[in-house]
This record gives sequence, C-alpha cells and structure tokens, in this order.
Amino acid sequence: MSTPKILILGAGYGGLLTALQLQKKLNYNEADVTLVNKHTYHYITTWLHEPAAGTAPADHARVELDGIIDKSKINFLKGVVESIQPDEQTVTLKDKRVLSYDYLVIGLGSEPETFGIEGLKEHAFSIRSINAVRQIREHIEYMFAKYKNEPERTEYLTIVIGGAGFTGIEFSGEVADRIPELCKEFDVDPSLVKVYNIEAAPTALPGFDKELVDYAMDVLTRKGIQFRINTPIKQCTPEGVILATGEEIKAGTVVWTGGVRGNSIVEKSGFEVMRGRVKVDEYLRAPGYDNVFVVGDCALIFNDQGRPYPPTAQIAVQEGENCGSNLVALIRNDKMTPFVPALQGTLASLGKGEGIGIVGQKKVFGSTAALLKKGSDLRYLYKIGGVGLALKKVRL
Ligand SMILES: Cc1cc2nc3c(=O)[nH]c(=O)nc-3n(C[C@H](O)[C@H](O)[C@H](O)COP(=O)(O)OP(=O)(O)OC[C@H]3O[C@@H](n4cnc5c(N)ncnc54)[C@H](O)[C@@H]3O)c2cc1C
Repeated sequence: MSTPKILILGAGYGGLLTALQLQKKLNYNEADVTLVNKHTYHYITTWLHEPAAGTAPADHARVELDGIIDKSKINFLKGVVESIQPDEQTVTLKDKRVLSYDYLVIGLGSEPETFGIEGLKEHAFSIRSINAVRQIREHIEYMFAKYKNEPERTEYLTIVIGGAGFTGIEFSGEVADRIPELCKEFDVDPSLVKVYNIEAAPTALPGFDKELVDYAMDVLTRKGIQFRINTPIKQCTPEGVILATGEEIKAGTVVWTGGVRGNSIVEKSGFEVMRGRVKVDEYLRAPGYDNVFVVGDCALIFNDQGRPYPPTAQIAVQEGENCGSNLVALIRNDKMTPFVPALQGTLASLGKGEGIGIVGQKKVFGSTAALLKKGSDLRYLYKIGGVGLALKKVRL
C-alpha cells in the first residue's frame, strides 16, 4: 500500500490532539497527515466566556497552530469544510477544492442548539469562536454607548443570558465582573444595569451536586445576576425575549448558551446522528465506515448506565489522543484500543477568584476551585505547546 492519507477536519480539542498524537508517534513518511481548519489558530473554547464578557482579550484564548505543529509531519491547510462524501472517501471545501483520504477524522465541533425557539438564531449571540466573542464584547459596549445617547432606553443596559448550564454560569460570572468597569467607562449608574440568567430546567447546572449549585447561585446572585429558573424562553425578538409565562424582558443583548449539537455538516453529509452527533463505536468510528473516526462534540458516547456523556473539552482531548494512537496502530497493523473516558472531575469558574467543582469524589468551592481550574488549563497548554506556551498564557 502507498503511504496512507489521514485527513483531520477541525483543529479544536479533538482534532488537534489527534494531530499531535500522530506527530508524536509516527515516523517520518509513515503517513501523509493533513489537518484542515477554518483558521490558522486553535482556540481555547473553555476560556471564550472571558473575552465574550470583555474580562480578557480575545487573543488570549487563541493559539497559533504554526507554533505547535511540526510541518515535517503534519500538513496544515486553512480551509472551510463544506461536505464529506464518505462513500467516495473525499471532502469538499467551500472553495471547491476536493481532498481525498484513506482515513478521516471528523472534529468539527458544535453549533448552538436552539430547540426550535423562535428568533434565537436571528437575534441571539452565542459563545462559539474568537470572531463570535469579539462581536459579543463589542455589542455590549456599543449598547452602553447607545444608552448614553438615548437615556430613556434603559433596556439597552439589560443583558439576558439564556441557559444556566456550564457555559451560561461561567459567562454570568464574567459579565458580573465586567459591569462595574463598564459603568465607570461609560458613566452609567450601576443600578440601571440588569443581567438575567434564564433557565428552562428546574435547576441551574442540571446534573450537578445541589450544594455546588446553591453555592454558585449564591455567589452569582450576590454579584448581581438575577436568576429565572424553571422559566423557558418562548421567543427571542430584536427587542429581547418573551418567556413561556408571557412576560417580556426587553434587552439590548441576548446571549444564548442553552445547549449545543454536533456540526450540521456531519448530518448533511449523510451520517446517522442524534442531535447532530454520531453514535460512534468503541474505537470512535462512524457506523458503516471503518475508516471514519469522529471525535469531540460531533461524537456521541454513552456511560455504563446508557446515558450520553455531555460534550466537553476533557472528553474531546482524550478522544483525540485515543484516535491518534489507534490510527498509528492501524497503519502498523497493530490492535486498536477501545476508548474509555477517564473523567478527572469538572470545574466551573464563577468570575475572578471564584469557582465550584468536583475533583475525584471531592467537592471544591471558591478560590480553591478557581485555582484548580487554572491548574487544569495550564496542564492543557503544556500538553499542546510545552512549558513555553503554558508560561505565555498563564493569567493568575
Ligand atoms: C464558554 C465555554 C466554556 C466551556 N468550558 C468547558 C470546561 O470548563 N470544561 C470542559 O471540559 N468543556 C468546556 N466547554 C466545552 C468544550 O469547549 C467543547 O466540548 C470542546 O471545545 C469540544 O471540542 P471539539 O474538538 O469537538 O470542538 P472545538 O473545540 O469547537 O473545535 C472545532 C474546530 O473545528 C473548526 N471548524 C468548525 N467548522 C469548520 C469547518 N466547516 N471547516 C473547517 N474547520 C471548522 C473550528 O474552527 C474549531 O477549530 C466549554 C464550552 C464553552 C463554549
């Protein structure tokens, strides 16, 4: 067989870690590996709530691929994937270039899940990329500036965060931290600013330990977040949101964090999906295609109780590493290793110096949780870019 061609779509947690594993384990010319990504950089999605609120610059969450990829082992192609033709073993890019492969890795991440709520797609922002968070930050600032020119329009100072899951809670913490600074910069009376977090489920952070949820809500309420739990949003309009109760909340900014589904390219390419995610086999392969691997938010895996694992960076990283190792095994005619997630815990930030989480069996709160989260961020940066990258990006 000629040199096998491996094509990796997406340089997020799953795709990048697949590429880095191949880079580490493959000998020169053992495979022809190409990584395709929309941008020349990888972004730390788990930090995006900070630049979205404006508490950190967007560039901070961005890592240039040039600095972490060994070009003698991995070809990098900047391009936007349009479709996959698994029967022909080809991928078409937006500019109509067609790429062929022997092995494909799909790591195209997620899209907002709007649950059919009218107007969300059109009128709400979502925290999903460097470009998206730049726009959210600018929009909030623009709304403050606009209010100063139309002081009767206090709704410009209202921010609605749809969803009190992980992302919604982390974003709420950052927004709360940013408000005093914005009020000072734009000469705005802080009592006029309102930040609502609206959640349809009967609790914030569904699935989390009650003590941790109570702690998070208490911290955020004290920081000024107004929670509306058990309150579905029925519609999003250019003026704000309408709740299932019929109440309208007028808001200059609506940010939807209520859930994600797998990238729609996967479904459009004919793969069988559930909420956009492919139910993969034990080696992360798509049903019916032994040469197509799916990692990260596009992949659906289940725990022992038959419940789907939520899409997380932690799992995406582990899947990428497993997928890279299994590709090397395949090329060398060795045995592949089934994927089994090794969950190390979950940590959520609640703004500067505050957090909650579970590490092993232990619950952690406050500055301990915040510090542990920084530690886990550092470990990830070290993994992808060594000490240099970790030191460059660390913010205490
Ligand atoms: C604000 C926020 C906070 C979070 N916090 C945590 C946390 O604390 N812990 C945790 O475990 N998880 C967290 N998550 C979830 C986590 O970020 C995702 O599960 C993870 O990013 C999934 O990795 P992935 O590789 O599937 O996709 P991504 O990391 O989203 O990467 C997808 C890549 O594909 C590229 N791409 C997309 N479409 C195309 C296309 N058509 N053509 C070419 N390239 C394309 C994108 O540019 C991107 O580089 C958080 C998410 C958010 C939004």
